[in-house]
Formats: sequence, structure tokens, C-alpha cells
Amino acid sequence: MTQAQPSRVVAVASDLPQATPKSSDPARLAHDIVDRLTYRIGKDATVATPDDWLTAVILVVRDRVVTRWMESTRDTYRKESKRVYYLSMEFLIGRLMRDAMSNMGLVEEMQEALSELGVELDLIRELEPDAALGNGGLGRLAACFMESMASVDIPAYGYGIRYQNGMFRQELSDGWQVELPETWLEHGNPWEFERRESAYEIGFGGETKFDGNSCTWRPAERFHAEAFDTPIVGWQAKRVNTLRLWRAEPIDPLKLDAFNAGDHMGALRDSNKAEALSRVLYPADETPAGQELRLRQEYFFSSASLQDILRRHVQQFGRITSLPEKAAIQLNDTHPAVSVAELMRLLIDEHGLDFDLAWDITKRTVAYTNHTLLPEALESWPVPLFERLLPRHMQLIYQINARVLKEARAAGTFDDEQIAAMSLIDENGERRVRMGNLAFVGAHSINGVSGLHTELMKKTVFHDLHQLYPLRINNKTNGVTPRRWLAQVNPELYEMARDVAGDGILSDLEQMKALDAVADDVNAQHRFAAIKRANKARLSDLIKSRVGLSVDPDMMFDIQIKRIHEYKRQLLNIVETVALYDQIRSHPERDWVPRVKLIAGKAAASYHNAKLIIKLANDVARVINNDPATRDVLRIAFLPNYNVSLAEAMVPAADLSEQISTAGMEASGTGNMKFAINGALTIGTLDGANVEMREHAGHENIVIFGLTAAEVAAKRAEGYDPEEVIAASPELAQALTAIESGVFSPDDRNRYRDLIAGVRLSDWFMVAADFDAYAAAQRDVDALWRDRATWRAMAIRNSARMGYFSSDRTIRQYAREIWNVLP
Ligand SMILES: *Cc1c(COP(=O)(O)O)cnc(C)c1O
Repeated sequence: MTQAQPSRVVAVASDLPQATPKSSDPARLAHDIVDRLTYRIGKDATVATPDDWLTAVILVVRDRVVTRWMESTRDTYRKESKRVYYLSMEFLIGRLMRDAMSNMGLVEEMQEALSELGVELDLIRELEPDAALGNGGLGRLAACFMESMASVDIPAYGYGIRYQNGMFRQELSDGWQVELPETWLEHGNPWEFERRESAYEIGFGGETKFDGNSCTWRPAERFHAEAFDTPIVGWQAKRVNTLRLWRAEPIDPLKLDAFNAGDHMGALRDSNKAEALSRVLYPADETPAGQELRLRQEYFFSSASLQDILRRHVQQFGRITSLPEKAAIQLNDTHPAVSVAELMRLLIDEHGLDFDLAWDITKRTVAYTNHTLLPEALESWPVPLFERLLPRHMQLIYQINARVLKEARAAGTFDDEQIAAMSLIDENGERRVRMGNLAFVGAHSINGVSGLHTELMKKTVFHDLHQLYPLRINNKTNGVTPRRWLAQVNPELYEMARDVAGDGILSDLEQMKALDAVADDVNAQHRFAAIKRANKARLSDLIKSRVGLSVDPDMMFDIQIKRIHEYKRQLLNIVETVALYDQIRSHPERDWVPRVKLIAGKAAASYHNAKLIIKLANDVARVINNDPATRDVLRIAFLPNYNVSLAEAMVPAADLSEQISTAGMEASGTGNMKFAINGALTIGTLDGANVEMREHAGHENIVIFGLTAAEVAAKRAEGYDPEEVIAASPELAQALTAIESGVFSPDDRNRYRDLIAGVRLSDWFMVAADFDAYAAAQRDVDALWRDRATWRAMAIRNSARMGYFSSDRTIRQYAREIWNVLP
């Protein structure tokens, strides 16, 4: 497909005048802020609103970022470095200002500049909207990776979709989740640069024509993908990389003939269809129309990104065949998996390569990260839909499939069932294209995101493909960026860590190990405790303002924040809360540890049980928080609209981090790492990265309970009877009975009947099976809490020993072992 407008070759002549780096002198910053306010926003300082000040400050920071950005781009070009391309349907970035300012080393100077102007940085900072272009862990990982790639000096581009409305905003109405559109672009987005000159054509449908070996695809519908670039600054401004997000545009915004002929809607149809493409993240896909839109979005951003990558490569290097030496394309889960077929199409139909060479180049360029083993989350598309939208890609997928299955048969060790499992086409029932298999066969590397997950991947979803290509699967345990998740969210702890471990911790989080030596020191413990107490007091204010509940910062803050999903087992947490409530009422004379349980998270709009679990948390909270017999020792709150900014407020205030997924179901988790870095103890199962966190923290510094992944699998295979378990556990039985009989839902006594029946009948997520172990582990946690010195020493050791879980380490491993680029 041709480019709408060719963009100019990047100028690289070293004799170009260098943009002079703007000063970070506070007086100069203040001058520049007023300048932007006046000339860019058109306001006088006396009438400027806080939003205007925010925009002016961002523009001033951005100017300084841009200088480094251009230097980085020129540097990559001059050195002919290999570039990394990270394709992701989600980038859960959150706010950017503090991140950019801190990585640029401008925070104190900016504070000073603003105080000269009578503006408070902390106040305007809160006004920046969250860029919520993601759903959960996978999207946040993409954001941490972007920051880490810049920090360890890897030339990289992130590619995704510029959703006009990202993840929905969650409100509560009478305890039920309500989804509202997130309007993050309402006041414009001062971070981004619109690149009208970088637009590509994206086609759908139509037909293919063969002339000998060459194929022409004539799409029935065509759109433009227009680029919006956001600079991503690395730590100490080492490098600035680009996040390029695509917006769909109609090629023909207004069919004037049709409009003048009176067909007003018809004349605007292309505009509306284009708008739908980059409108929302994860349109509800229970309907065929929703499914189709989702596949269109995936192809839309994959095609635009690949056209851009190939254009850049050919412009700089001339020959397309050197692509694998100069470009590494990482697919973040299967959402961009259609890229395998699209790259083949571009190489064969646009660049004239034969199939064999194109296939070799594709495999050497592409790598794929798997994020889930849940069968319902492994994408597949009905063949008729795929064929109708992407006829040329369907042909290529059949060709690729024939090649792979031939290799499998040639190996001579696979039976028909195994061959069927390796096929790109699922032939059981309605024929479907398996995107996971497509990504696997088109990639030279397939990685899992924790040791356990990678091993399970070899045994389950990719069992047979792994037999055929045994060298491809590898592990890259996730990490998080310590700049955001330590220094920015917890500046006092960062300062303490620096006092002990030195200034290098943000470049090398392993240096936090120095804190180990002070874990038993009384002064260090007191300092640590005071920092935690202050973070808890701040969160306490936020809880009061968001949900009206008063929480004493001296209570234990027990936090579970993540997407609401049955496998993550918020239900186990709530059932245990109900059981504890019952125990406290029965034994008021005992010395109960005062605890507040905090839960936050969004449920997918169409996920009935997840939404019911949110309502249950709120129903239980209403009863418990209003009971004078227990309210001094037990409270529970559900905080609405979990997003990056809320996580930033909650993570540093946690005493206890709940990581209690059904073993074998959480691929890695990254929330678990954020909490431990900030000195929370973890209560968790041996799932995902918890397994490795236990190794690093030391077995004695983490509270592990429950079935292992192997035990869960065995129990499911045996077929276990949850009623037997429930009958043997009076506390569990009592809690389940209370919930299902309507104790917490007097207005609708049957509300939770089916939800609890699911536990009694099959208990797929092992809530009953793990209950006793979980409750006992919670009482162990209480005992630890009573011994404050021990608790604090354990918390400091957790913080000290999480260096491995920096996303810098993860990115260095990707660079060395998958991308073959040198930081
Ligand atoms: C870290 C993070 C996640 C991932 O949390 P898990 O507990 O690993 O599922 C999801 N959403 C947001 C906003 C986050 O910051």
C-alpha cells in the first residue's frame, strides 16, 4: 500500500546547528512558563486557570525534552543502530508530567520557578488526566518498558492506537459499577505532536487478483492512519524515544456529491467508520459487530506500524533484506499477531520478495510475548470474518499453515491430533484462525512473563508447537520502572534508600540491597515506619474524600488492587472478611488487630460475575463499616476508578499486599512487585512472579499459602467436591451461608445465590479449597503485625531485595536474548 504523503528523510548532517539545550535555571523556567501562557495559550497570568498553568508547565518541560529527543534520533541514525519496535494494543501510561520532569532532573527547579509565580506544583499536577490507553497489567508493562528502553539507551518506538476514549471511567451507583467514557483529550494533549505527513493507507475487504506469482489486493474500504508522537524520556534524560499512536481518518471525509444530493448520512459514512476505529479500547465483543471492530482495530494499527517500519528501514538502509539486522519487532500478546501476515504481504506484494525469503525475514524480525494461558483470552477469529475483512492475509495464512504442517509431518513424530493442535486453523466446530499459533510460528522467540508461566506455556497452550520448535520459548520475568514506582510515588522512602544505598539505585535497583544491613536497626525502622505512616495518612484523606469512610492510619492497610476477575480471587478476600467479621462479633473480648481492607479495580463491562463481586464488596462494606461492635477493628472500602494515578496513591501506603490468584492462572503480576518495592509484605499464592519474589525476598519474608499450580491441576483433573471442603470448615460455611442468604443484600436476598452456588458446585477458582489456608495465613499476618520490630524488618528486607524486578533488568534481557541489540 502506498504512503499518502512521503515524509522527508531525517536530516543527519552533523554540521546542522545543534538546538541549544534550554536552561534549567528557575528564573529562566519561570520566564518560559509565562511566555507559553501568553503566546501559546493566549492568557495573562492574572486570569490563567490552573489548567492553563498545567499546560504552560508541560509545554516548557516538553521543549526541553524535544531537544534531547532530536539528539537521540540523530544519534540512532548516525550510528545505524538497530531499532526496537514494541507493538501493543495498550499503553497504560498514566500521567506524564512528573515522570518527564523527574527524569529530566527539573523537579526542584520547577518547584522554585512556580513558587515565584505563586503556583503550587502539587496542585496543578493533580489536574493532568491519566492517559488510560490500557486495561491492566499488559498495558502498564508496555508503559514501564517504554520508560526502561529510554533509560537503558535502546532506540525504540512504541506503536499503538490513539483511542479517543481509552479505558472507561468507573463510577459506583448504589455499589454497582457504571461505565462512563473517559475523556482524557477534553482539554487537548500538550504532550503529543500530530504528524500529518506520516499517514498510511489501511484497507479492508475487497478482492485479490493474481497475475502469475504476483498478487494485487484491491480493498473495498480504505482509511488513513495518522501518527501522533509522544516523547518518552529515560532516566537522567539519557535518551528520548517515541511512542507513536495511530488515529484513523477517512480518506474522503465528506462525499460532497452525496451530501448535496441530500444523502447527508451517506456522505459522512466514511468519517464515522474511521472514527469508530480509534474510538474505544476493547469494544464489547459479544456481538459480531463488536468482534469485527476489534479485528479491524488490530489490523489497523499493525498495518500502519509495519508500513512505517519498512518505510524507515528502506529510507535509511536501501535494502529490505537487511530488515532483521536493523529492526526487532516485539508483539505484546496476540493483539498485533496479524502483523505476521501483514509483514509477509508487504514483503511479497509490495517489495517483490518470494515467499521463502519473506518468511525467513519475518521470523528473524518478529518476536512474541504471551501473557495468558486462559483459553477464553487466546484470540481466534472466525474464518469467514477474517476472509471477508482481510482476503489477502487469509491466503497467506493458509500458505504459512501448509508450510508449518509440512515441517511437522516431516518430523515424523506427531500424530494427527498433535498436527491439528499446531494448525493455524481451529477445525473443531466453526473454523477459526488461531492468533496465538500465528504469532508463534511467525516469531523466532516466544516468551512468557515469569518462570512458572513460561513452564506452563510449554506444557499447555503451546505443548505441540514447542515440541516442533523447542528452542523458541524463553522466559523474561516482568519488572516495573523504579523511577515511577519508587522515587515518584514514594519520595521519602527513596530519600531514605539513597541515604543508605547511595545515588545509584534508580540506575541499578539491585543497589537497594544495602538496606538489608539496616533492617534490624531501630533508627532505620522508625524512619521507615514514619514514612509509611505519612503515606497512609495521605491515603486516608483520599479514602475519606472518595467514599466518605474514615480510616485510622494506624490500622493495618490490607490492599488488593487489580482488574476484577474470578481468577484473581477478590471473592476469596471478601469471603474471608465476612468470616473475620463473624469471628470478631463472636469473640469481642479477643485482641483483634485493627485492619482495613481496601479493594479497587474495574470489571469488564460484559463480565457478570466480576461486576457482582464489586457489588458484594460494597454491600459487605456497608454492613461492616456501620457495625459499632466491629468498626474499630475492621473496615472495608471499595475505591472507584482504579487507574495508574490511584495505584500511585495506594501502593506506597500498603502494609499488606494481596496477591492471591488461583495458582497457575496469573501469568506474572506486576502489582505484586510495586508493593514489595515500597515495603509491603505480601500474602500470596505460589503463582506468577510471586514464586520468584519469594526466592529474592527470602522465604521467611513473605506469607505464602494454598494450593500450588500442580495441585490445582490435579484437583481439577480428579474432580473435587467443594461441598465436602465447606462442610469441614465451619467458618467458611458460615460466611458463604451469610452471603447467599442475603445478610448483606436485604434489598435482594437472592442477589448472590448463583455466585455462591458456583463455589459450591464446581469451585473452578478454588475459593473453597484455599479458604482455610488463606484464613490461617491471615492470622499469621496478625501475629507478625503485633511484633512491630519484626514486621518492619521484614518490610525493609522486601524493599531491599526487589532489585531484580526492575524493568531495566527485564529490558536488558530482551535486548540481549531476543532483540540482539546492545544497550
Ligand atoms: C500495575 C498495574 C496493574 C497490574 O496489576 P496486577 O496486580 O499485576 O494485576 C493494573 N492496573 C494498573 C493501573 C497498574 O498500575
